[in-house]
Amino acid sequence: MKFFFTEIPAERVFAPLKCTCIRLNNCRVLITLVRTGDCVYNPVELSEKIEKIVVQGELRKYYRFRPAQYYGGIATADCVGCNLSCIYCWSKAPREKPSKAWRFYSPEQAFRMMDVIARKRGYSQLRISGNEPTIGKQHLLKLLELVERTDYRFILETNGILLGRYPAYARHISNFKCVHVRVSLKGCDPEQFSLLTGANPEAFELQLDALRNLTDADGSVHAAVMKEFAPEEKLTSLKRRLAEINPGLARDLELEYLMPFPSARYI
Ligand code: SF4
Repeated sequence: MKFFFTEIPAERVFAPLKCTCIRLNNCRVLITLVRTGDCVYNPVELSEKIEKIVVQGELRKYYRFRPAQYYGGIATADCVGCNLSCIYCWSKAPREKPSKAWRFYSPEQAFRMMDVIARKRGYSQLRISGNEPTIGKQHLLKLLELVERTDYRFILETNGILLGRYPAYARHISNFKCVHVRVSLKGCDPEQFSLLTGANPEAFELQLDALRNLTDADGSVHAAVMKEFAPEEKLTSLKRRLAEINPGLARDLELEYLMPFPSARYI
């Protein structure tokens, strides 16, 4: 059996820590520091706090624009700030220190940066990634209006918290023909969600609500979940819940694979 050790810098967390083990379904055990659960946060409230730091009117903080190999090639804008705190998050400083002097971009500037990359590389797709793109509604909707006037396809990668909390926001997103939404589920149930994110377990339902709101609005959407945190019985029960919303969500559920932190080591 392999053991996989990872670290969480103290400033990344919002609650007390303890050392614990999470059994992965490929016979590995993830040993990590997780929150004790007695000091969980509300991700909707956290969104409001983060928004005050990373959004100014129509401007949003970004830390990088880059070509990426995913989806067969996609121009990617990496934004700053998230409303979750996943134990396996790669984002590091742009999520942990949103107040840092990252640059603000208007929707036009962000679109132009992605457009230049896409033209140079011959890509037909754009996305915002790196953190949570739905924080800063005004910025995102304006950016999507610009994309809608082109032939680009836009992949909206989100944890779904805000699209679940605000159905009108989900409806607005669904109106854009250029958009496909990928909701990245954090675990298969409320308990796993809280363990992985440190957020209150009830917020797991907001992720499913996002899928429901988008589906009800005829939006293009699919869900993803990490295979390492989806043992067979939990996966079956998650698929059952997805099928209740729309059978297509269960059928098209994407299984993602955990990529270890650069600092991770096998012992
Ligand atoms: S939702 Fe994504 S960006 Fe936010 S903490 Fe989780 S992995 Fe990181």
